[in-house]
Amino acid sequence: MDREALKRQLFEERERLQHEITELDAELSESLEDSSEESPYDQHMAETAAVTLDREIDLTLEENARAAIAQIDRALQKLEDGSYGHCDKCGKEIGGERLSAAPFASLCIDCKRLEERSR
Ligand SMILES: [Zn+2]
Repeated sequence: MDREALKRQLFEERERLQHEITELDAELSESLEDSSEESPYDQHMAETAAVTLDREIDLTLEENARAAIAQIDRALQKLEDGSYGHCDKCGKEIGGERLSAAPFASLCIDCKRLEERSR
């Protein structure tokens, strides 16, 4: 496994996500300004609803991006301490196939499934 290449890949992905968050933040503050300019509110119910939906989608995207960044940070930490490729929970090897599909996975497929089921 090429650690340096992997690190680069993780940093690039992290940067991309960070950029995405910055853009979403800008959009979110814009849509906040828009809606505060609308008056009276009741004449713009449909518009306001659409803006609200947009904001919700943006917020979800932002949440996902932040969660992905946290995962990347965890993977980078694991690369540093040498536990990369091993499951956070059971310590078993995560497996090359899963890692190439999800380079910042911190759980093996079994623990991941268990975690998803318990949510
Ligand atoms: Zn596991």
